[in-house]
Amino acid sequence: MSRSPFVLNVADLLGRDAPTRQEVIEAPVDWGIELSTLTPDPPLLAQLQLHPVSGGIAVTGTVEFTTEDSCYRCLAPTTTERSATIGALFDRTEDDESYPLDGHEIDLEQMLRDEVLLSLPLSPSCGDDCPGVVSSAQNDLNTGASGDEDDVRSPFAVLKDLLEPES
Ligand SMILES: [Zn+2]
Repeated sequence: MSRSPFVLNVADLLGRDAPTRQEVIEAPVDWGIELSTLTPDPPLLAQLQLHPVSGGIAVTGTVEFTTEDSCYRCLAPTTTERSATIGALFDRTEDDESYPLDGHEIDLEQMLRDEVLLSLPLSPSCGDDCPGVVSSAQNDLNTGASGDEDDVRSPFAVLKDLLEPES
């Protein structure tokens, strides 16, 4: 079984007076949300600093990646280079604000995935020239001028539901 590129041994950072460590991780991933998916090629590139802090490891840096998006109005495909800023804590507590430090290892995958997906636009657009929503000729013929809007939920509304925690 091949080892995940996101799992790091941080034993050297757990002692007293340990120095900050640099890490560069390059890995193809297929993370995505409704209208945006990361491309495996070029792969995700994370440039990180691992800082020893009391009780754990703080991870900062940036992650660069490319997404294939569908315009939220006309669904035209576009490719966009993006980046996100990383700031996360790994420790041995079990609260929701940090990620687990497991023995001498941290697994950056869930954290990077969270940060990357949160940075994606809810409604990617193909640009100022977007032709807009293409209406269906069949509906126009069958039902006349109005009455269909309530049947179709916008992609934006669907995404909003997906990303917002249940209230
Ligand atoms: Zn468009």
